[in-house]
Amino acid sequence: MENKGKVLMHKYEFGRFLGQGNFAKVYHARNIETGQSVAVKVIDKEKVLKVGMIDQTKREISGMSLVKHANILELYEVMASKSKIYFVMEYAKGGELFNKLSKGKLREDVARKYFQQLISAVDFCHSRGVYHRDLKLENLLLDENGILKVSDFGLSALAECKHQDGLLHTACGTPAYVAPEVINRKGYDGAKADIWSCGVILYVMLAGYLPFHDTSLIAIYRKISKADYKFPNWFSPEVTKLLSRILTPNRKSRISITKIMTNPWFRKGFNSKAVDIDAVCSCETNYNAFEAKKDTAKLTNLNAFDIISLSSGFDLSGLFVESEEKKEVQFTSLHTFSAITSKLEVNAQNLKLKVKEGGVMKMEGSSRGGRGTLAIDAEIFEFTPSFHLVELRKSSGDTLEF
Ligand code: AMP
Repeated sequence: MENKGKVLMHKYEFGRFLGQGNFAKVYHARNIETGQSVAVKVIDKEKVLKVGMIDQTKREISGMSLVKHANILELYEVMASKSKIYFVMEYAKGGELFNKLSKGKLREDVARKYFQQLISAVDFCHSRGVYHRDLKLENLLLDENGILKVSDFGLSALAECKHQDGLLHTACGTPAYVAPEVINRKGYDGAKADIWSCGVILYVMLAGYLPFHDTSLIAIYRKISKADYKFPNWFSPEVTKLLSRILTPNRKSRISITKIMTNPWFRKGFNSKAVDIDAVCSCETNYNAFEAKKDTAKLTNLNAFDIISLSSGFDLSGLFVESEEKKEVQFTSLHTFSAITSKLEVNAQNLKLKVKEGGVMKMEGSSRGGRGTLAIDAEIFEFTPSFHLVELRKSSGDTLEF
């Protein structure tokens, strides 16, 4: 209870301990201003660093803010101190779906309802290029109305925890949900791997136990590779047929999400509209806020979450691998927005770069270098009216020239 009563960044008062993950402890907290209940995941930076973070994590953390859906646990903001990262998330009052299974298997219609919500969430994320890669029953939470909330979407790189040899760490959650190609390291399709895990989840909900279980890890992996499992006699023929198409070892012949969604067993009582409309609306708002690429929007408001993935100011530099060839630079400025844009324009003129107007300032060279014409995008992010982050990105041309 080390955090109880502690106030995070003058905003969230910590309450009771909710649970423990691989790298994180999760606490209930209350937004002091609004009274809203939230869950705060506290990640120990050092522990994460020890397992070796990869460049991809940076992208994935950025991706998280694009994923907003009725069945995905919402991430409100990310904060950081020197030693910790805090993910402030939607509070799932109903706890883990796992607990429902402690009383035994679920009825087929109940399992279907959860599976429909799971597939909706996964489909939504995949269509936005975000893969979970660690879907398991323990990552499925419920809100106060019993609505399914998938947690840790986009955080998979944190959970994946690879060893130096590239193998999955065995302590990293149960391996029983992992697709054969992930075990065999034979090319990797995030979408198909997630579908396999959804199949294992559906099986567990209906059976009350895992499809692949044995006394040793090697034996489990062998069973997964061959899709060596049996259906209990209470599984209906319809669900058996669907599961056989999902738990197919060859990922190329494994059923796609689109096909799952047209499957008659899946479609029974499925109200896709209610979920979809909600999801699309909230996502569009989020996209605009995050990308601000519309011509009218010259400034992008940053939240702490964006800062984490952009800034070295919080001493997160060690967290992410820097690319050898620098294709972008960032710096902060105490000048106003207009002063920064004027200065950029003057510098561009001195360098004989043509400035193009738009949401993002574009500067282009007039002569072709070895790798085409140099083009640079400049984007200005506002922290406060007198504190900005300027990002210069090479969009084409030679990196050395840049
Ligand atoms: P995780 O690190 O995500 O595996 O979280 C560890 C445990 O904390 C989970 O298994 C849940 O019991 C609990 N937990 C995580 N996130 C939430 C949340 N948003 N709301 C309620 N409980 C949560």
